[in-house]
Amino acid sequence: MTVKEVSMNYRKHFCIEPHRKVDLSKWDPADTLDLKDKQKAKALLKKTLPKLSDLQYRLYTENKRAVLIVLQAMDAGGKDGTIRHVMGPLNPQGCRVTSFKVPTEEERAHDFLWRIHKAVPRRGEIGIFNRSHYEDVLVVRVHNLAPKKIWSKRYKQINNFEKHLAANDVHILKFYLHISKDEQLERFKARIEDPRKHWKVNPQDFAERKYWDDYMTAFEQALETCSTSYAPWYIIPANKKWFRNAAISQILLETLESFDMKYPPASCDISKIKVE
Ligand code: AMP
Ligand code: MG
Repeated sequence: MTVKEVSMNYRKHFCIEPHRKVDLSKWDPADTLDLKDKQKAKALLKKTLPKLSDLQYRLYTENKRAVLIVLQAMDAGGKDGTIRHVMGPLNPQGCRVTSFKVPTEEERAHDFLWRIHKAVPRRGEIGIFNRSHYEDVLVVRVHNLAPKKIWSKRYKQINNFEKHLAANDVHILKFYLHISKDEQLERFKARIEDPRKHWKVNPQDFAERKYWDDYMTAFEQALETCSTSYAPWYIIPANKKWFRNAAISQILLETLESFDMKYPPASCDISKIKVE
């Protein structure tokens, strides 16, 4: 199966047009579109990964632009799994993953974009953000970690920041991994049942479920205010991990293919080189 064999253009289908209203209750987290079963999705991913590797190599050798992938989701939404399955097979030499945690004292002493800007990939690299500057309009908004007067101005500041990056050859893709509240509970239960996942169990995660609706409202606002032509948001149905992986890999493939990247020519006259 190639990109052409997938009957839909995932990039178009899941992309939020600028200023489009977002009501997450209308987005089915269990949607699998034309990929009806796990086998089909896994086969597609298997064929996509070598193509992504080749395109990553071109990106690296071309050294013209950076790619920034932003991952946001509710807890257990699958950010780590996406990185492992979709980005894991890429060449680590051209990849950089940054996980954004509760800001440190030093980070808090700066503007909220300071730590983000430092982690933006350089030309030739693919940068992956596991959480991002969007936490500053998500958890911060839901828990009043900053007054409304502060966080409400951040949407515009984020758009300006992303516009600046895009104008400096950083190609931005933002994925919101959409899971249902029930699916989150199933995943938390699985963590409790599997000793290999105990390290992930955090009692706070259960308490956070009380704020689910507030998070949905905060996500809706971020998705509709900050999906732009230069830094689009994609809403990925993520209850089915296999669909999530296949969909994100397709969107990444469609995006990298659209760059029409060429290997750079030799910087010397190859015909004059004496191979001896
Ligand atoms: P985890 O990704 O599970 O390791 O958790 C990281 C935690 O850091 C999450 O609870 C995030 O909400 C929190 N976090 C990330 N960025 C911020 C931020 N800017 N302000 C407050 N909390 C944050
Ligand atoms: Mg967590």
